[in-house]
Amino acid sequence: MRVRFWGVRGSTRTPQRENMQVGGNTSCIEVRTDDNEILIFDGGTGIRLLGKELEAEFGSVPIRAHIFFSHFHLDHIQGVPFFKPLYNSKNHFTFYFAGRRDANLVMDALAGMMANPYFPVDMSRLPCAREYVDLVEGVFKVADTRILVLPLDHPQGCVGYRIMQNGKVLSYCTDVEHGADWSDRNIGLLAKDADFLIIDSQFTPEELSDHQGWGHSSWKQAVQSGIAAGARKIALFHHDPYHEDAMIEEIVASARSSFANVIAAQEGLEVTL
Ligand SMILES: [Zn+2]
Ligand SMILES: [Zn+2]
Repeated sequence: MRVRFWGVRGSTRTPQRENMQVGGNTSCIEVRTDDNEILIFDGGTGIRLLGKELEAEFGSVPIRAHIFFSHFHLDHIQGVPFFKPLYNSKNHFTFYFAGRRDANLVMDALAGMMANPYFPVDMSRLPCAREYVDLVEGVFKVADTRILVLPLDHPQGCVGYRIMQNGKVLSYCTDVEHGADWSDRNIGLLAKDADFLIIDSQFTPEELSDHQGWGHSSWKQAVQSGIAAGARKIALFHHDPYHEDAMIEEIVASARSSFANVIAAQEGLEVTL
């Protein structure tokens, strides 16, 4: 399994010089399975460049991909209208989500962002083939992987994913606030012995005290959860818009004092499991 980060920023994109090393695009992760199936997690602004790269790679060959949403906050969907492969009738996409209990609500959530007067192209007019799958809690098969989906504590709901293939495990846990027993337990299940854990690290421990109920974690909680779950490598993810490159470097250095194999998720970074 191969993971590539296209967007790592939380809440809003931050196109500014001080953030260029880590990157300013919002959440989007590409996973290539061992059979080169394409799984995409979240459609933040990072998905635009992923679309460009896929078009270059596939040329006139149809693109088939599975797009999973952790939830529908804007920073996780706002790149979707700019994902150019949607505008090609040869391509096929399956959109996955959980906890909406109704596929129509998902279509509405995505289509609402593209509805008049927010965007000039109505989602129903997109030429690509589309399917919508409403996931329930538990394990399901997608492409050649098994995926566990569990809810996480976040305003208006969110889910984490554990992607399993050929003995390798990738865990994607954003956006989540620590503290609720059921949710902390789910992080533990999603991240258990994971080869690679990508986890919400929006705040410093100091900032967290002013942001109770905002639905995010400190880097310290993220690392502690990863250690407790037995994760082998941890990527701090969903960086706060006000955390510039230098600050994220400091955070990683501090995090490494308790766990050596911590990195900051950054745009363009590729990790092979
Ligand atoms: Zn977010
Ligand atoms: Zn959110």
